[in-house]
Amino acid sequence: MLTDLPRAYKDWRTPQPIASLAARALQGEGDEAVAVGTIEHVSERAGKYPLVTVRLRDASGAIAAKWFGRRHLLGGKFSVGERLFVTGRVALRGLLAELSVTNHRVLRDGEPYVGEIVPVYAASKDLTSRQIRTLIQKNIGALIARRPDALPPELIAKYGFPAHAQAWREVHAPSDPARVDAARRRIIFEEFFGIALAAALKRSRRANAGGATPLRVPLDALWRDFTAQLPFAPTGAQQRAIETVWRDMARVAPMNRLLQGDVGSGKTLVAAAAVVLAHAGGVQSALMAPTEILAAQHAQKLAPLLLPFGIAVEAVFGSLGARDRRTAAERIRSGAASLAVGTHALLTESVEFARLGLVIIDEQHRFGVEQRARLRAKSAAPHTLYMTATPIPRTLAQTKYADLDLTILDELPPGRTPVETFVLRESRKAHAYEFVRKNVALGRQAYIVAPAIDTTESALTSAIAEAEHVKRDVFGELRVGVLHGKLPPREKDAVMDRFKRGETDVLVATTVVEVGVDVPNASVMVILDAHRYGLAQLHQLRGRVGRGVAESYCLLIAPDDAGAVERLEILAATSDGFKIAEEDLRLRREGEFAGTAQAGSAAGTIGNIVADFEVYMHAKAEADAIVARDPDLHEHAPLLQLVEAVAPARAMLVTS
Ligand code: ADP
Ligand code: MG
Repeated sequence: MLTDLPRAYKDWRTPQPIASLAARALQGEGDEAVAVGTIEHVSERAGKYPLVTVRLRDASGAIAAKWFGRRHLLGGKFSVGERLFVTGRVALRGLLAELSVTNHRVLRDGEPYVGEIVPVYAASKDLTSRQIRTLIQKNIGALIARRPDALPPELIAKYGFPAHAQAWREVHAPSDPARVDAARRRIIFEEFFGIALAAALKRSRRANAGGATPLRVPLDALWRDFTAQLPFAPTGAQQRAIETVWRDMARVAPMNRLLQGDVGSGKTLVAAAAVVLAHAGGVQSALMAPTEILAAQHAQKLAPLLLPFGIAVEAVFGSLGARDRRTAAERIRSGAASLAVGTHALLTESVEFARLGLVIIDEQHRFGVEQRARLRAKSAAPHTLYMTATPIPRTLAQTKYADLDLTILDELPPGRTPVETFVLRESRKAHAYEFVRKNVALGRQAYIVAPAIDTTESALTSAIAEAEHVKRDVFGELRVGVLHGKLPPREKDAVMDRFKRGETDVLVATTVVEVGVDVPNASVMVILDAHRYGLAQLHQLRGRVGRGVAESYCLLIAPDDAGAVERLEILAATSDGFKIAEEDLRLRREGEFAGTAQAGSAAGTIGNIVADFEVYMHAKAEADAIVARDPDLHEHAPLLQLVEAVAPARAMLVTS
């Protein structure tokens, strides 16, 4: 309750002269009117449209105040001569102004009007803002007492923050709007400080615990051998990433690094380099991917890169037959296999490693905390490399992945031409099909992505229906395949294999093709109902094409009547995944302004990491400085309480 801060405040401190209300309404000032006056006359109307009307007068003039449809509640409640406080909207009825009342209170004999600032809380269907306000006001003392007053006095002085109790009181029961801002700043700082402390603690604990196998191999020679075997020269970004990863792996402190790189930036090569070092250092590696398609692709791509080093790759899938699975498990247990690639099937108890030293997790956000932990638990303290093609804005990464080291592959391998992107209205869909046909005639392949699998799901275009439609009515002569999540794994693989081998011209799919699927000959992607996706996801999807040397295209189709299509134009304008992610975040925040969700606080924070980024950076600098001096916070016990009290901070500390 305490941290559920009001989303706005109503200033009811100063009643407006009643005579001024008509003028304000005339000027179109639609803001809330606040007035205090004496009741001159009361009338009540029953019937279909019940109405209570009160004539209210102050020193400046009089106005009719009306309650619509509430006679059953208010009938007989008002009497002439009483003083009444009201708020509401003023409308003009001809020349006369009238007030449609939203809040009122009768002031008892001689009770002076004490103006207040009223907090407005995010209400829900079941709980009104007023109920929340009442609950918090009733309990504010107890709530504040439960929250540790933990911010070090030096910081309070340095940043000029209000005191603990005062800050919390001020946001829930403000005395002055100017002080609310200062109070809020302290509260947000305190929260970010808690998160930053948790992140710093976690890093220092990991570094001090050690326990990883330090892989110390002459790196110059390894680099020479590694690059000599490659069919291409690594990009500068790949080289820097590999150096960093190798340096991490030479330490006793386990590596804990997130490798972010746009689709096609060549993350596989960095993973391969890590596996090569692990092998040279005498430990095994495991790579876990979220789907079988992806895991199979990894195995396929890594095998040739690793073969020259005598690294045997073993695949572990859920769909493997019992016998194959036993053989694979045996080769991993004996150490004959240096790298195990698989889905979460890698997590089962039957998979045991002889000496696991490196864990690579692809698209880590698709796995739960527990799954990641289970793989890592197969070794005492493995070096861990997370990979993701979903660019996370720098700001969000600060809290979301605060305890990970971050490496970004910000350079695409040479010879790529950016995917040309166009936004088309549904009425011009025929052009898109025509475009697909033309590219297929040039020997290329195409994807058509639909948001739903079948029509039972919703009114959205379904992959199955779309496939039937294009087969029958559009591409009669072309070979069309369908791929979606409800197909059995074997069937999925078969469909994907046919597409890879070029035996299918057009693949109609759901977003299962989103991540990592790599068919260089595919040069066109048509996305139906594109308005239904976030920009970042569309960017991901688009990354499935433009992976060969052919000129590639992405056609975003949105219904003629869908609003906000301008948003999609951003994709036509840039191919920088980070820019798109920032923009997505910005747009979502604006959308949320309408009051749907907590803007930018994905981690359930009060502060908004994007809007309050500066505050975060200050809090982080202070937290890092404290943990550097006092790595276990032995001398700062209250700060541990703060970490406990800030939910996202506590969560960060207990998860791995
Ligand atoms: P992602 O980051 O999306 O996983 P991949 O590792 O799958 O990217 O690489 C995309 C494609 O680029 C692959 O076909 C890969 O062989 C190729 N590639 C990777 N690095 C280079 C490079 N330095 N020069 C040329 N091609 C490269
Ligand atoms: Mg990849």
